[in-house]
Amino acid sequence: MTADSAQPGDRVFDWLDRRAEDRRKAGLTRRLTPRRADADHLDLAGNDYLGLARDKRVAGAAAAAALRWGSGSTGSRLVTGSTELHAELEFELAKFCGAQAALVFSSGFAANLGAVTALAGDGAIVSDAYIHASLIDGCRLSRANVAVAGHADPVAIKHALATRRTEQALVVTDSVFSVDGDLAPLPALAQACRAHDAGLLIDDAHGFGVLGEGGRGAVADAGLIGDPDVVTTVTLSKALGAQGGAVLGPRRVIRHLVESARSFIFDTGLAPASAAAALAALHVLADEPERPQRVREVATTLSQRLKDAGLTVSTPDAAVISVRAPSPEAAVEWAGQCRAAGVWVGCFRPPSVPDKVSRLRITVRADLTDGEVDRAVSVITQHAPR
Ligand code: PMP
Repeated sequence: MTADSAQPGDRVFDWLDRRAEDRRKAGLTRRLTPRRADADHLDLAGNDYLGLARDKRVAGAAAAAALRWGSGSTGSRLVTGSTELHAELEFELAKFCGAQAALVFSSGFAANLGAVTALAGDGAIVSDAYIHASLIDGCRLSRANVAVAGHADPVAIKHALATRRTEQALVVTDSVFSVDGDLAPLPALAQACRAHDAGLLIDDAHGFGVLGEGGRGAVADAGLIGDPDVVTTVTLSKALGAQGGAVLGPRRVIRHLVESARSFIFDTGLAPASAAAALAALHVLADEPERPQRVREVATTLSQRLKDAGLTVSTPDAAVISVRAPSPEAAVEWAGQCRAAGVWVGCFRPPSVPDKVSRLRITVRADLTDGEVDRAVSVITQHAPR
């Protein structure tokens, strides 16, 4: 028996009930809330930043691909799971962002696991403290020596690189951090990596489709997308409104991932419908560059108006806004009241927040109207804890 609180005579899994009770007392119980297809909530919790998940061109491409290719990809990418759609998506993603090559995974989570484990080897990893769970798990799964160096702190990263014990080193960061929506100091990180011969892996899940010229992402915006020592990961499930993930980078990196990234090799390939949806969304993005511009404007306006109403609000660098709550219970109650009033906001509590501060997490979309922004401000402020 491994559980700390196990008592003699307990059934093996009784400790799960004690853990659940501890979480309940701390206000940290998580609940699944199924969405209804006809729900008329104002959605400020999802990641459909460009409003493309229900776009007929995107959803229609998914439906057509399912009918043509089948509902699943039928196998791993190296066996039967690579269709012409996957190859076209990889070509178009790399071309759009300006990378040498791309490799599509079944999720952004799998892309991060695969890229970190395959590129860190048994060298050193230096990571930002606030990286996404999928990067953290990649670091843990790798056999590398991992150092966590503050948050958005290139000096700490530099110090960790300078004092590492192995020659091979990889710096790992998000571009836009998922909790507060703040942007990493990418140029300074790239400079630190250059000075210390380290690779730089950037998760651009929240930057791709939102930041940079025409939504080419935060890495492209920082002028790093074609850098031979930089690897970018993206998800297809946020700005593109589809599902899946990808790694963008130098051709030899992509070749290495095909040979050795376990979450690529041993995973069933992305469903053709999702590949087709991502491809269609990428075409919409290329044709309608005003969408990323609009998301950024909406985020700035909404955060400023919530700030003006006296709330403690992050200044958004992309589409994510966080509003501090005094406690996990207050955050849950606040989010619940907003929901009851027809506005769906995210509620982040420990352990999903690195600084243990509970907050509402609000995400905006390009297709939000000014009237919807007014409604969001009114509902969120009206139900704020006093
Ligand atoms: N990285 C970041 C920063 C994310 O926020 C997420 C999704 N929450 C992922 C990676 C994982 O992407 P996916 O949902 O496509 O698995």
